[in-house]
Amino acid sequence: MESAVESPPAVELGRRWETGFAALGAAFYTELAPTPLAAPYPVSLNTPLVTALGLDAAQLAGDAGVQALAGSLPFAGSRPVATVYSGHQFGVWAGQLGDGRAILLGELETPLGPQELQLKGAGRTPYSRMGDGRAVLRSSIREYLGSEAMQGLGIPTTRALSVVGSPQPVRREEIETAAVVLRTAPSFIRFGHFEHFAAREQLGELRELADYVITRFYPECLATERLAGNRYAAFLEQVSERTAAMVAQWQAVGFCHGVMNTDNMSILGLTIDYGPFQFLDAFVPGHICNHSDESGRYAFNRQPNVAYWNLYCLGQALLPLIGDQELALAALESYKTVFPRELEGRMRDKLGVVGEREGDRELVEGILQQLAAGRVDYPIFWRRLSRFVAGASVEPVRDLFPDREGFDGWLRQYEERLPDDRPTAGRAMLRTNPKYVLRNHLCELAIRQAKLMDMSEVEALLRLVQSPFDEHPAHEDKAGFPPDWAAHIEISCSS
Ligand code: AMP
Ligand code: MG
Repeated sequence: MESAVESPPAVELGRRWETGFAALGAAFYTELAPTPLAAPYPVSLNTPLVTALGLDAAQLAGDAGVQALAGSLPFAGSRPVATVYSGHQFGVWAGQLGDGRAILLGELETPLGPQELQLKGAGRTPYSRMGDGRAVLRSSIREYLGSEAMQGLGIPTTRALSVVGSPQPVRREEIETAAVVLRTAPSFIRFGHFEHFAAREQLGELRELADYVITRFYPECLATERLAGNRYAAFLEQVSERTAAMVAQWQAVGFCHGVMNTDNMSILGLTIDYGPFQFLDAFVPGHICNHSDESGRYAFNRQPNVAYWNLYCLGQALLPLIGDQELALAALESYKTVFPRELEGRMRDKLGVVGEREGDRELVEGILQQLAAGRVDYPIFWRRLSRFVAGASVEPVRDLFPDREGFDGWLRQYEERLPDDRPTAGRAMLRTNPKYVLRNHLCELAIRQAKLMDMSEVEALLRLVQSPFDEHPAHEDKAGFPPDWAAHIEISCSS
């Protein structure tokens, strides 16, 4: 009797896969399957996102579901690919990079609109270079919680559906274990995808890629009257504006990305590639969260300039399509108006002041200088200030400042600027200034537990960061100051 070779069972998600990125030709990607991961076990499933995508949580939590989320079983109808891109890393042209450990499963039709599903850590690809194609549990949990924290704060970001772990060893500074995150986004296309084809002078592909992104995500550029009706310039302008708005939100909330290489910049203005990121504890403007960033290129207060530098690289890549350097520069100019406007608006919201008045900039600068001088805890300051405006005593705010007199001087100006209806302003501030922030040490504690196969802290943090403005009385401890050891956590590019 002939023995039938059984193909592995595929997990049917019950939703339609669209062609999506794969419609671009073979120059843009390599088709390949994820490499199965040994003995996958569930770490966390983001059920609110599962539900929002119209997927079945019970199915994904089951055996076959976990296998599929690990890349060990296929999803029926998915045509996995690894995409090619290049980029500037730490200010230097790095040539070809690409999805070295990410595998795009395809584009799924969902109630949130079309969403790409991508596995990170799913094995080697033709773009892995010296890498092993894997991600470790530690960094996978950080990406999962980090992206959901940004989503909870209302900041544009890729999202994460699940983390699956495995006992499979992975070598970093020490031996760790592997994990896979399933990420979602309307598109994972980066500035680096454009730089890739521009650098190789593959202008046909460059145009194809730009037309794809414009048609799908920036259709208003097709019939634009801005910038001499040049759709590619209008596209660059739109990307500049979205990036400006995103970075303004980073600065307002105290988010440090850590590796703003051009291959880590989303063409949709989403926060992408969570590595050594950090939400500030103390307000230290020059804070460097990436231990591998020796020159501080990606320090917190340099992020706005770096984003512009990255957009400039994108502009250079698009120049052959735009065809006019003046137009390209004019498109980039929008960053310089949108970024300050967005940041000032966000800071006024944090302060609970309404409308725009002369002196607002000084008010913001004044408090930031004092926060920096006193190395005051950034999230706690804003939350206490919100409570004060809502009706509580000012003492908990004043107590944060070593220079009380300096603070009192600022407070007098601030109180003059506050609206008469303080309770309403205070309530708005409590919806703007989060109580729960994914601080490094909270992540670290959840990771330690997860390594011991206790996922309860990951679960708890996921819920907290998904509703960071709400009170969670059982988790008051996670809204407090960081412990002393938090200052010594070292997060590097190694992940
Ligand atoms: P990153 O610094 O994480 O943005 O990664 C930069 C480049 O290195 C990208 O092309 C990644 O796909 C690739 N890369 C990072 N880590 C690995 C790994 N462990 N295996 C293969 N490629 C990797
Ligand atoms: Mg990256």
